[in-house]
Amino acid sequence: MARGAVQSAGTTEVPSTEVPTTEVPTTEVVVVGAGFGGLAAARGLAGEPRAHVTILDRHNYNTFQPLLYQVASSGLDVGDVAHSVRAIFRDAPNVSVRTGELVDVDLPARRVHLADGATLRYDTLVLAAGATTNFFGIPGAADRSFPIYTLADAVRLRSAVLQRFEAAEVDPARIEHGELTFVIVGGGPTAVELAGSLAELFERVIRQDFRRIDPARARVVLVEMQDTVLPSFRARSRRHAADRLAARGVELRLGTTVDAIEPEGVRLTTGEGIPARTVVWSAGVRPSGIAERVGLPLDGTGRVAVASDLSVPGRPEVFVVGDLAASRARDGSLAPQLAPVAIQGGRHAAAQISRQLAGRPTRPFRYHDKGTMATIGRRAAVADLRFGVSLSGTLAWLAWLVLHLMYLVGFRRRVEVLFGWAWNYFTWNWGPRLILEPEADIPAAAPSDQPRSKEA
Ligand SMILES: Cc1cc2nc3c(=O)[nH]c(=O)nc-3n(C[C@H](O)[C@H](O)[C@H](O)COP(=O)(O)OP(=O)(O)OC[C@H]3O[C@@H](n4cnc5c(N)ncnc54)[C@H](O)[C@@H]3O)c2cc1C
Repeated sequence: MARGAVQSAGTTEVPSTEVPTTEVPTTEVVVVGAGFGGLAAARGLAGEPRAHVTILDRHNYNTFQPLLYQVASSGLDVGDVAHSVRAIFRDAPNVSVRTGELVDVDLPARRVHLADGATLRYDTLVLAAGATTNFFGIPGAADRSFPIYTLADAVRLRSAVLQRFEAAEVDPARIEHGELTFVIVGGGPTAVELAGSLAELFERVIRQDFRRIDPARARVVLVEMQDTVLPSFRARSRRHAADRLAARGVELRLGTTVDAIEPEGVRLTTGEGIPARTVVWSAGVRPSGIAERVGLPLDGTGRVAVASDLSVPGRPEVFVVGDLAASRARDGSLAPQLAPVAIQGGRHAAAQISRQLAGRPTRPFRYHDKGTMATIGRRAAVADLRFGVSLSGTLAWLAWLVLHLMYLVGFRRRVEVLFGWAWNYFTWNWGPRLILEPEADIPAAAPSDQPRSKEA
């Protein structure tokens, strides 16, 4: 197998075997995406003597999306939820890491094309490119709201949140016009977790930081089109989550649809307007567009209509896992777009590739659902487990903490996050309240001798 770079038709064709190995591998596997699904697939093939794996991602890090809301609300720092992909595979000689943007796949030629002009050849491809924010075409949503899907989104949102307080401290009159009103669109776990966390941040943490204003005047408004939060949870958990949010001062607008995001705030379909400088969009995701671009068969939700073993029908050398795949649960229903589905799918694809290499038939995938959880803040969470068991309150919160620690990549990260949570819990002095990406609109007139008392 050629190892050097080959010039072809104006592009640099790079065989996936860029890393020297002692044995010549027989199969080139390219894994697109270093998220939950891609990592699980590459890890499943690490040490597979018949394969060399190249894991490709546009970022050089893996993001632990379930904790992004804590970055946005200053509970955790960037490094707590992101991990270098090279560090993850440093001890796996048959896995190479490539940072780059996939732009196309030539299925007949078995090549992936990157934005930097390079081409990677594969024998087997695992597509785990995930999903992206879905704005559903709501006017103003894409331009004026803050999505929370990537690490950069979370840092931008954190900066915006803190900047609003800086602006209100300089000119408290801005509060009347929505400077400290934070509207979260969506009622799923991310929206609920962010709402609860922001309410705690305002009420208990940054309250101590400001002198002229009372940060407790900040409003968190959650707008959800269904008549409940956490629609995919059991009724008891839904009620508990709504009660706990309300107890923390979150204003719930349920059964309410957003009509438009305007410069002054949110316009609802009822005609009501909520003046708000900051609108967070957490209303849904859509699968990555790469599958459609490549011409893979899609189902009604835009996910790839995979065969039962997660391969593409008619293309046994292409597997699709995670949010991009329309995979199935044990009862035959469509599996949700959740981390455990992606992890199980990635592991399954790796196992099937090993079976193919051994000349054995592949096996069907069935998502094994162990339950779902969401936290609403300190000592408040809900968990819907198997056999109809639902937990809430402190027990569910502890279970949530343990589970999220377990899923974090790396022992050091787990220790750091555990320490950070313990610090936050006991001191109410959350860590990284840093504005890293400021917008240029803080009012200029900031007298240096502001009164030390809170505004009236
Ligand atoms: C804010 C948030 C909170 C969440 N909370 C939870 C939770 O609490 N529990 C839960 O189970 N699930 C949660 N989810 C869902 C869960 O994160 C996803 O289901 C899971 O990440 C899907 O894994 P994946 O591997 O398919 O995609 P991802 O993990 O999104 O990985 C896709 C990877 O592909 C890369 N990529 C995409 N396109 C390209 C390209 N063209 N070129 C190169 N690289 C590319 C991306 O950079 C990314 O690293 C949450 C999601 C979000 C956004």
